[in-house]
Amino acid sequence: MLLLSSAQACSVMSIVMTVKTPVYLDNHSTTAVDPRVVEVMLPFFTQQFGNAGSSSHAYGWEAKDAVDRARQQVAQAIGAKAREVIFTSGATESNNLAVRGIADWLGKKGRHLLSVVSEHRATLDPLDRLTRRGYEVTLLPVHPHGHASTGQICLNRFADAIRDDTILVSVMLANNEIGVIQPLAQISEICRERDVILHCDATQAIGKMPVDVTELGIDLMSFSAHKLYGPKGVGALYVRGRSPQTRLVPLFDGGGQERGVRSGTLNVHGIVGFGAATELAIQEMNPERTRVSQLRDRLFQGIQAAVTECTLNGPLIIPGSDTTHSRLAGNLNMTFRLVEGESLMMSMGDLAVSSGSACTSANPEPSHVLRALGLPDDDVRASLRFGVGRFNTEQEIDFAIETLAGAVKRLRALSSMA
Ligand code: PMP
Repeated sequence: MLLLSSAQACSVMSIVMTVKTPVYLDNHSTTAVDPRVVEVMLPFFTQQFGNAGSSSHAYGWEAKDAVDRARQQVAQAIGAKAREVIFTSGATESNNLAVRGIADWLGKKGRHLLSVVSEHRATLDPLDRLTRRGYEVTLLPVHPHGHASTGQICLNRFADAIRDDTILVSVMLANNEIGVIQPLAQISEICRERDVILHCDATQAIGKMPVDVTELGIDLMSFSAHKLYGPKGVGALYVRGRSPQTRLVPLFDGGGQERGVRSGTLNVHGIVGFGAATELAIQEMNPERTRVSQLRDRLFQGIQAAVTECTLNGPLIIPGSDTTHSRLAGNLNMTFRLVEGESLMMSMGDLAVSSGSACTSANPEPSHVLRALGLPDDDVRASLRFGVGRFNTEQEIDFAIETLAGAVKRLRALSSMA
């Protein structure tokens, strides 16, 4: 049985009185739907429940109007035109549609695709599947732990890796584990010079930092609503409409919705929620980004003060100074030496954090992102990811520090007795 000292118990207890547990610090995995978004969605379950494809009655017209409005909201958030937004079931589908859709469209022009080792599995796995169909994939490394640009790709190496038969480059904007932001504007410039299509998984970035497809020169971009306080199971793929127009082969065929790129009855209530969540996130982005990064800094400093032998993974965090150009505001990833990340999480029932990507939790392999930074497997296994979000408070952060420090001490004491 794990026992707290009476002093530890008192300080945790005093914070417990003011916070609701478990404290949720896993906002990269998903976010709570903002109550204002729920409010907007509700009528679309029972009153305005029409099929957006029904053109013969008012139920259908209402649903279509609502979808059009949401499309406009999403487009506006990323500097796109409404008709360039294709609604999907989320970023996994969007990434698959982008990668496989381009490979199928341009397979005769070339069969080489270029991406990065630390991408999400929703990009890496469709790329891997293509290799079984005769395509060639190059995965670029990232700068290692300790490097000034840790987690980012090397632009020279990237330019050298583009070949005459390269048909697609896919690079995420913000990483879901270590929060690193890739230099997409420079990547896009190189793609333009070499006439290669650029896909960007911006799932963790939209609503958290400025994202403009025109400014960034992106051809395809993926999103999921549930990462920005919208509902799960809905997202979008931005597909450039002109200069140049981007074409792709759909993943499946059917009713021809979404201009034939993504057949299937539209998830109207989800899409409405996605639109509302996006608009809110953009309106509130600047103050929220500041608040969230201050909370993240408080968490980082508090952990550093309370726990020995812990290190930061990913780009530098300098509390009090703005590091949001290189790292997502709410992201923290740390290694706690001499403990197992899984045991640490299990011993902190009052704290919801993760040891990597929730989307790969069916696969207990240590994080491929931390491995890509060159961390030894023992350190990878001793690492936790924290994602601070819109609804977190200072009290929750202080509670998390106390809980974590207590758990690390107990586990280390136990392992030293073993
Ligand atoms: N890309 C990134 C960067 C992500 O963080 C996620 C979700 N963890 C996805 C893609 C997949 O999103 P979804 O599970 O909503 O399809």
